[in-house]
Amino acid sequence: METRTGKRRRMGLNKKLRGLIDAALDWVYPPRCMVCTDILPVNGPKWICENCGGLLAPITPPVCVKCGAPTETDGSICSACRARKRVLSNTSIFVYDDAAREVIHRFKYNGCRGYAAGFAKLAADSLGMGFFDGLEALVPVPMFPRKRRRRGYNQAEELAWALSETTGITVLIDYLKRVRETRPQAGLTPVERTNNLKGAFALDKPLKLKSFLLIDDIYTTGETLEACANLLKQGGAEQVRSLTLAVAVRRETQLKPEGAEVYGADLNLKKAGEDHGHENIQFNENIRGSAPG
Ligand SMILES: [Zn+2]
Ligand SMILES: [Zn+2]
Repeated sequence: METRTGKRRRMGLNKKLRGLIDAALDWVYPPRCMVCTDILPVNGPKWICENCGGLLAPITPPVCVKCGAPTETDGSICSACRARKRVLSNTSIFVYDDAAREVIHRFKYNGCRGYAAGFAKLAADSLGMGFFDGLEALVPVPMFPRKRRRRGYNQAEELAWALSETTGITVLIDYLKRVRETRPQAGLTPVERTNNLKGAFALDKPLKLKSFLLIDDIYTTGETLEACANLLKQGGAEQVRSLTLAVAVRRETQLKPEGAEVYGADLNLKKAGEDHGHENIQFNENIRGSAPG
């Protein structure tokens, strides 16, 4: 399949019609809080209720300049990223804690693809529009076609489209392709992880673009994003960064917002038979050298 680019998925609809459709949908399916799923008040916040306001809290500096996880000192590289010689610079909106796991799980597996718009809003609010300066294209980490058909959508793509609506930056679909089905990365050793991804991605015919933002849901060890970034660079990219919703960090070092632990007690929606590629990962061993994530 050839590279598809685009700025707006619903370009055919004018603003007024979209507004009417959205209002009708809100009436039939009232918007619910992404975290606790309670119905949101009509004139209140659009994605997260006031009770959950402290959850999915944006990461604030200092962060590791490679993985984007919270660190002790600004501008530093965490030990895990030093050990793995990370090239890519990743930014995450929030830490992969209990609330994040729950919300991302619904986003990926329970058909809550509409959350993408909420995440894009969180990203724009927490990072500011300056973060997107100079970028020519958003590139979602691709999913193997069979897996994508099974799930019905690729959450990274949904996120890229939503970010495109907010920023106006083009989305590239099928420029970076997944050409081989891989085992879930969770539970593999670092060497197995690298081998698992060998030859998994390929590029469509060359483009003139030079500056890309890779989009994915979770940064664990960053192996997948590094593989994608290296390939884009081989294809002539001069600048590649990545943006993920969440970054997994060791539980002991998580900067938990108030109330996260209380909420965490109720979190157990995992269902048998689902692909827990990321969900099995509790932390990415940012501190220790060996890596499950
Ligand atoms: Zn809530
Ligand atoms: Zn790091």
